[in-house]
Amino acid sequence: MVLYYCPYCNPKYQFKTQSSKGTLICGLCGEDLVKKPFIRLNQIIALVAASTLLLPLIYNFIFLIKNQINPPNKKYQANSRLMIGIKDKINKIN
Ligand SMILES: [Zn+2]
Repeated sequence: MVLYYCPYCNPKYQFKTQSSKGTLICGLCGEDLVKKPFIRLNQIIALVAASTLLLPLIYNFIFLIKNQINPPNKKYQANSRLMIGIKDKINKIN
């Protein structure tokens, strides 16, 4: 769907009419309507700027929730089986 708009009139009060030539014109001022591009360059730049601010925040928030649900393992002690194995080796040497 291609949108048309009048660049001079308020978008709230615009209505389209067809001229005698068959082209779409503004109902208020009679100017030819301009095709509205689907994605403008300004929108892309704004999206990039907004994402640079929001993405780290969202990333941080996801990890915050993830750590609340499943807290990271804070065992710093060595595995007991591994310790027994080391003790056996020490005993064999002595
Ligand atoms: Zn107009």
